[in-house]
Amino acid sequence: MQIKEILRLKPENQEVVVKGWVRTKRGQATLAFVHLNDGSTIHNIQAVIDADKVDAEQIKKITSGACIAVKGKLVESSGSGQSVEVLADSIEIYGLADETFPIQPKKHSLEFLREKAHLRFRTSTFGAVFRVRHFLSHAVHQFFHEQGFFYLHTPIITASDAEGAGEMFRVTNFDLNALPKNEDGSVNFKEDFFGKETSLTVSGQLEGELGALALSKIYTFGPTFRAENSNTTRHLAEFWMIEPEMAFFELKENMDLAEQFVKYVIGEAVKHCADDLAFLDQRFDNENKAKPQNERSEQGLLEKLKFVVDNDFARISYTEAIDILLNSKPHKKKKFKFPVEWGVDLQSEHERYLVEKHFQKPVIITDYPKAIKAFYMKQNDDDKTVAAMDVLFPGIGEIIGGSQREDNLEKLKTRIAEVGIAEESVWWYLETRKYGSAPHAGFGLGFERLVQFVTGMGNIRDVIAFPRTPGNVEF
Ligand code: ATP
Ligand code: MN
Repeated sequence: MQIKEILRLKPENQEVVVKGWVRTKRGQATLAFVHLNDGSTIHNIQAVIDADKVDAEQIKKITSGACIAVKGKLVESSGSGQSVEVLADSIEIYGLADETFPIQPKKHSLEFLREKAHLRFRTSTFGAVFRVRHFLSHAVHQFFHEQGFFYLHTPIITASDAEGAGEMFRVTNFDLNALPKNEDGSVNFKEDFFGKETSLTVSGQLEGELGALALSKIYTFGPTFRAENSNTTRHLAEFWMIEPEMAFFELKENMDLAEQFVKYVIGEAVKHCADDLAFLDQRFDNENKAKPQNERSEQGLLEKLKFVVDNDFARISYTEAIDILLNSKPHKKKKFKFPVEWGVDLQSEHERYLVEKHFQKPVIITDYPKAIKAFYMKQNDDDKTVAAMDVLFPGIGEIIGGSQREDNLEKLKTRIAEVGIAEESVWWYLETRKYGSAPHAGFGLGFERLVQFVTGMGNIRDVIAFPRTPGNVEF
């Protein structure tokens, strides 16, 4: 039985076996109180180990970090803070730890724990984060399944260079010290594994669209790679993206789905991760208090989650967003670092102003200038904007980017030429517009940004097991 289950039992002196890692040990070799955790729950179980029953030499060896099994009787706890405890009859030591074990029972910084990522799961914080991450990912599949979507596994290796030029990781099996060359000295990729240049995918969307234009509603949920050298608290080189794509959806339905989806998965986390979120809520409070006044969140973590689930997101056009920013205090006082005028891409400082100061809730911004958005977005009749939508969240900024897709073959071809993509490289994508084209839309949600929002973790490196960022690929 896992500790989670044992903690729920009625204590009747029944025999139980508890297996887990020692968080703390108090007392002496003759009578020790050991807190064990097996990762099934944030809560530890206390084992009372008495030298009457267990060899004192054995008890002495147990330290924080050791892994043991305790066989004994489940009784009502005399101490406060827990309902049951185990009175040991015998113990088995699986693996000892010594005083060099890095995760001692004291507060460790997240930076320190990042360097001990192989062991950080054994802290309360990371246990909670990864349990919440699991429930969120389960809820993602549940939501789409219930809505009639099919889970499509799109490829990780791609030859398409249509998106994210310059941000892709190359895939090759060339001997880099003996590259086959063309006559002009350039690398001859015809001799590479796939016979052309290949990379790790930056998005499953283009393939997702192919699926949606037959299966109607699909979603992908897979690893995504970006070689952008942005060392921020919101960017990873390897992250997980969820990309639904729906035939017969226009921008409005796309926004409705995105809003319903995030509310659903957050609601599920609140429902199923009460203990972990209570812990993270407390943690969030402590962190928040340590921040300078102007950076503090006015709401607690749980309060924030409930607020998002219970309230409509604000919906405005890019043009309206620019007007709000132009009339804002920080703009008038020249507090923004980046310029505000129609046509610029919104920077994080602008997004945060809109979400955290102006609306004080999630905001969906639509109809961006076409020059700053991808080629596949549906061109609006004004000839200036596209049917794009970004969902912005407090503390996170952009959590979702999506759009209605251009379904008119001629318009798509013109746009592709304008941005300099070779038609031959996306011939298959274009054919879906040649044969039975249909209005369709979709979006991409960065899973780690969602986990960040729900757990209140400030740095994206702390919500993925083994983060990959520039210069970091240990573990
Ligand atoms: P940003 O402007 O924040 O870099 P983006 O415009 O590059 O995001 P999209 O290409 O629209 O993002 O990707 C869809 C979603 O994937 C984003 O809304 C975000 O949640 C997530 N995302 C994008 N890049 C990263 C990254 N490097 N690490 C983690 N998540 C990311
Ligand atoms: Mn980006």
